[in-house]
Amino acid sequence: MNAMELESRYSARNYEPLPVVLARGEGAHLWDAAGRRYVDMMSAYSAASHGHAHPRILAALEAQAKRLAVPSRAFFNDRLGPFLAELCKLTGLEAALPMNTGAEAVETAIKAARRWGYRVKGIARDGAEILVASGNFHGRTTTVISFSTDQDYRDGFGPFTPGFRSVPFGDLAAVERAITPATAAVLVEPIQGEAGIIVPPAGWLRGLRNICDANRVLLILDEVQSGLGRTGAWFAYEHESIRPDGLILGKALGGGVLPVSAFVATREVMDVFTPGSHGSTFGGNALAAAVGLEALNVIRDEKLVERSAELGTHMLARLSAFKHAALKDVRGRGLWAGAEIDPRIASAREVCERLLQKGVLSKETHHVVVRLAPPLVIARADLDWALDRFAEVLDELEGSHGRRKAA
Ligand SMILES: *Cc1c(COP(=O)(O)O)cnc(C)c1O
Repeated sequence: MNAMELESRYSARNYEPLPVVLARGEGAHLWDAAGRRYVDMMSAYSAASHGHAHPRILAALEAQAKRLAVPSRAFFNDRLGPFLAELCKLTGLEAALPMNTGAEAVETAIKAARRWGYRVKGIARDGAEILVASGNFHGRTTTVISFSTDQDYRDGFGPFTPGFRSVPFGDLAAVERAITPATAAVLVEPIQGEAGIIVPPAGWLRGLRNICDANRVLLILDEVQSGLGRTGAWFAYEHESIRPDGLILGKALGGGVLPVSAFVATREVMDVFTPGSHGSTFGGNALAAAVGLEALNVIRDEKLVERSAELGTHMLARLSAFKHAALKDVRGRGLWAGAEIDPRIASAREVCERLLQKGVLSKETHHVVVRLAPPLVIARADLDWALDRFAEVLDELEGSHGRRKAA
């Protein structure tokens, strides 16, 4: 059996991969098992923002793996402190709790918000509520899917965790109406990724900040996908000159080689955790901390945030100039765009399959949106080449759609 047959036969069917077997990656390029080269236009949902096999990150990984990898947090280690200090410096927040995956860091934020609600705000026991946005994506644990509004993520997995209420994304008045004295936090993505790169109205985050301040509610931002340069700023909240009370990071924090996530917050929020109240065997291990710190250093030293802003403006300008009937909408910020395909002409899946044939890798989200989110290190020429292929695919689809209609 070949690699595709083996994976299909022995894996759970919780993914539906495109028909390509990847074997190697470097920078913004990936190669299949036969040696064909592709331009990566999705960066593993931002986990590969630094590009594949970044030499500095590999060097940090290798050197640290040989020194000390997983000593457990039963002891201090000489890598964790510098990593957490850098996270606090970058965010302007005061303390960080390291985890591994994004969903675990979201769970950490939920626990922090609830305990803060009871112990600091004085909400009655077990009554705390967290407001979330419809269309949200915060991961796949049972508590996190409890407040998903997407039936694909929830169906058959109940009973669900109570204590969440969802309001329409981008709607400030709805947040104001939903807040009660039992509201502990508002938890949102600044731009919704999995929902289809949905950019909220300008002023929405600032408005949320004001509403939260006026009602003594925590503002917690999930920047697992939007953070660390993806939107052309270190963090998407900087676009509106605000600061959250809690921030969730992941994906790119692992430099494309390890799962590294963190919940970063004010001292007041973080101090609700006491010894034994929360933890993770692998969270904050020396290897993850060394890689995480180098991931942050590379973003700064290689000016990847500035690159994302500049190339992102270029990408969005080019996409906006595409005049194809198949392209219903284009939106995004930084090197992160969603291209919405008219479902009467093609599915986003079909677009991704055709892109694959031309040497461009991307993945649809929600049947109608093609995500365009290359590694932040991508060369302008490679980006333009990939966008040219996208335009070709749109041309072909319109041609075949026109022929189908005529027939
Ligand atoms: C991917 C993602 C998560 C979950 O991260 P995992 O590492 O897959 O658990 C959470 N929030 C957002 C916004 C994400 O994009």
